[in-house]
Amino acid sequence: MSDRYTPYLGNDLGCVYTEKKTTFRLWAPTAEKVEICFYKNGDGDCLLETVPMEKDVEGTWFLEKSGDNARLYYTYLVTQEGITKETQDPYGKACGVNGVRSMVVSLRSTDPKGFDKDCGPKLYSPTDAVVCEISVRDMTADVSSGVRFKGKYLGLTEKGAMNINGVPTGLDYIKSLGVTHVQLMPSYDFGSIDESRPEANQYNWGYDPVNYNIPEGSYSTDPFHGEVRIKEFKQMVQAFHNEGIGVIMDVVYNHTYDIDNSCFQKTVKDYYYRMDGKKYSDASACGNEVASDQPMMRKYIIDSVKYWAEEYHIDGFRFDLMGVLDLETMRQIRAELEKINPYILVYGEGWAGGPSVLPEEERALKVNVSQLQGIGMFSDDMRDGIKGHVFTEDALGFVNGGQDMENDIRFSVVGAIEHPQVDYEKYEYTPEGAWAKDPRDVVNYASCHDNLTLWDKLLLTCPKASRAELLAMNRLSAAIIFTSQGMPFFLSGEEFARSKPYKNSYSENSYNLPVEVNSLKYDRLSDFKELCDYYRGLIAFRKEHIGLRMNTKTEVVENLRFLPQEQKNVVAFVIKERQEEIFVVYNANPEQVTVSLPDDNTWQVYAEGSKAGTTVLGEIKNQTELMKVSCLIACRVVTQ
Ligand code: CA
Repeated sequence: MSDRYTPYLGNDLGCVYTEKKTTFRLWAPTAEKVEICFYKNGDGDCLLETVPMEKDVEGTWFLEKSGDNARLYYTYLVTQEGITKETQDPYGKACGVNGVRSMVVSLRSTDPKGFDKDCGPKLYSPTDAVVCEISVRDMTADVSSGVRFKGKYLGLTEKGAMNINGVPTGLDYIKSLGVTHVQLMPSYDFGSIDESRPEANQYNWGYDPVNYNIPEGSYSTDPFHGEVRIKEFKQMVQAFHNEGIGVIMDVVYNHTYDIDNSCFQKTVKDYYYRMDGKKYSDASACGNEVASDQPMMRKYIIDSVKYWAEEYHIDGFRFDLMGVLDLETMRQIRAELEKINPYILVYGEGWAGGPSVLPEEERALKVNVSQLQGIGMFSDDMRDGIKGHVFTEDALGFVNGGQDMENDIRFSVVGAIEHPQVDYEKYEYTPEGAWAKDPRDVVNYASCHDNLTLWDKLLLTCPKASRAELLAMNRLSAAIIFTSQGMPFFLSGEEFARSKPYKNSYSENSYNLPVEVNSLKYDRLSDFKELCDYYRGLIAFRKEHIGLRMNTKTEVVENLRFLPQEQKNVVAFVIKERQEEIFVVYNANPEQVTVSLPDDNTWQVYAEGSKAGTTVLGEIKNQTELMKVSCLIACRVVTQ
């Protein structure tokens, strides 16, 4: 099946612009005829001319147009089986409103000042990263952000924005957390928002790709002129880089918005999608799945991520439903991206949304992570172990009253690797047990854009809990994330109890709910300052301790030792780190417990109750009282 058509291996697919001429090349081996329509604008009745393309090598069609064609809009008219369809260029780098027509672009003219010198942070390992998931829209849409360009790329470039109490918001706020990277929710051009009607109160997360290589138009100040969204996206990336923060893109190559209107289907019918007989396979649960194992689809995905890394200086990629994509494609992606940026982060969801025709052993699923190098996967084990299963509203986890979860938490603390003190017989969440070969394979988190926010999950599972009790659970959740081996990740606003109230309850899937449900309410920053500072403190502490950021299984097994506990719902461990030892203990009990220290030395406390950071809070010796639902972190210098 994959040998049906000769692939085209050149690097000039789409349009290649110079001031003197522009070339156009489309891979369309099944087409009987291909023409190009040139338009004055990205929409409306403004056809300039229709020009036939010449059949060229390896299933491609080619046209060279002389002169400076920058800002000329175009589409292809592709005839297959006697039916002609108009489509934008799959390799389009710029487009008009709603991505219907592609645009010839002089990319250098879209570079903001100084972009040639722009670059992201350099991290030795993914375990050194601290990733915060943000949405361009959500971060500045609310009036409380105090930002001028609300919900836009430019909104995230604004310095000095603050809420009504003078607390920094937007970019300054993200910087204040100490995170190393932000992960942008879909910001390529997606289909679910009509860009021509900015006044309409539309909202969508954007997991419905239309143009993979072009920024979304509704986040720009002018979606009608193709160069504007490109420049503004670059300005945003540059603004983050200026603060030392890397930018990771959430990429959704597993499916497209629909089949019939997709540029893939219109150029080569039924090539880019996996088929199950005459039906379309649907491992994305969105109506289709992309055939990443087909040579030209694989090439497309690889070319696309390379383009974002090179042209937009993107520092990492988070693959949505990565378990739909095949292992070989992911391996090649990693290898190609590393050539561009050795510090690049690649990780994704190691699962699919439904069954696929491609066998499990060929797909980038969690159980196959050992067959990949340098590609992390989200630990749903940790997410659900901390606070209860996401699909069962009343399911409890370690922090909110779940029982017999100690082993699950140990599993997560070691980064889902094989460790002699974790009981894999008892571990049921992932039947394969230790799925990671080392902590670099693991992304640790409690909440993301999907499902209930952490705060809402705690509210719903513990309706009788006081605010102080809920805060304690939230803190313990954060403490587990930031003291576990792997790469920590959290949803923006989790650190100030982000909530999505909707219809007398809380939304567990707000993808198309009004922006008011989704946006960050910075006024909450004042109400939850202590919680926010606790996150900051944990992040700062983590950055100071390589013992929390180990890279290999051997290191973790040698240096991390759990201490036996008599009480239930307590997990304690010691990490050897150069000249220091770190002692961490989580108490999920609703009452205080007494915990023995690892030895009879004096230990300096860095986290206790509602406080965490890099300054010593006190000293303890022999044993200590641990507050209900809390984490204690203490260190001591080892004298030989
Ligand atoms: Ca769009």
